Amino acid sequence: MNRVYNFSAGPAALPETVLQTAAAEMLDWHGSGMSVMEMSHRGPEFISIYEQCVADLRELLVIPSNYKIIFLQGGGLGENAIVPMNMLRGKTAIDFVLTGEWSVKSAQQAAKFATANIAASAQSTGFTSIPARSEWKLSKDAAYVHLCMNETIGGVEFHSIPDVENETGVPLVGDVSSTIMSRPLDVSKFGLVFGGAQKNIGPAGLTIVIVREDLLGGALPTTPDVFNYTVQGKSDSMYNTPPTYAIYIAGLVFQWLKAQGGLKVMEERNRAKAELLYGALDASDFYVTKVAKDCRSWMNVPFYLHNEALNDAFLKGAQEHGMVQLKGHRVVGGMRASIYNAMPLEGVQALVAYMREFAQKNG
Ligand code: PMP
Repeated sequence: MNRVYNFSAGPAALPETVLQTAAAEMLDWHGSGMSVMEMSHRGPEFISIYEQCVADLRELLVIPSNYKIIFLQGGGLGENAIVPMNMLRGKTAIDFVLTGEWSVKSAQQAAKFATANIAASAQSTGFTSIPARSEWKLSKDAAYVHLCMNETIGGVEFHSIPDVENETGVPLVGDVSSTIMSRPLDVSKFGLVFGGAQKNIGPAGLTIVIVREDLLGGALPTTPDVFNYTVQGKSDSMYNTPPTYAIYIAGLVFQWLKAQGGLKVMEERNRAKAELLYGALDASDFYVTKVAKDCRSWMNVPFYLHNEALNDAFLKGAQEHGMVQLKGHRVVGGMRASIYNAMPLEGVQALVAYMREFAQKNG
């Protein structure tokens, strides 16, 4: 077996031990004689998997007891519509801070349900920065302020959480799809965070919503029951069949995270990986980065070759060295190395070594 260093932005690499456990338990989970895929979501076996998964997530992220954890389907994009349906609470406007493709998409979806007010936008910088907090034009009557905490395509990340609710009384909603579990997150600064699982948590198909209970109960009457946070929260995400196998794998990932030492340990590892890669990029004239230094993503590192005619050769050589999925998103081009929790430091070291070698040969 030959596993590659997989720099995919998502669905992304998973810890190898998680995959091994899943393989070992595939036909017979803990003596049940069944695969997790074959279990009733209401049976005692799956209920125990679910309860452990939720408890571990709460422990890892230190989620306060007045926040509900809800497992849904529909992905991050689905949530862009489901969040406004649930969170308008009789209000008619939502504030957005645009920092890249995903926050733009969120605003577009929300506009189907409310007035999507653009409080600030980094579009004029080509989405390579975060607008200064002093420039945000927040509206007083907004239902919430939406931020994308890490723009997976552009590689722009908030390294601190603006204290919006304390300052304005308006709750903050964070799309944490590509940063959740990469380091500790102060959930109490948000009214709600959501994310697709397929980067740092598990397989595609599971969406995680963490929402403060006092914000529930004001969903639009047209909200489908399966997407209604109150309904799903009351039924422990089992109003309908949840994505059982994805929840099981997420649970294995949370156990792996606990065994590593939790999110503070991941933070140090992820900081080290990001510093190594950005350091190599900064030290070279052969490569270009565009994102402002204070908001460079630790998870998704977009970079460019000065001579873009060499792009295909760079990717082909990387593949030959066992490094895959480094092509940048089609919207921004160039390269992108996604270095989530499951990417070991050795993978980033291998990438940096290859980048130096490629630059020497072609520079
Ligand atoms: N938000 C962010 C930050 C993302 O990275 C993505 C997917 N890459 C999405 C939303 C959309 O998620 P999905 O494809 O699960 O709908």
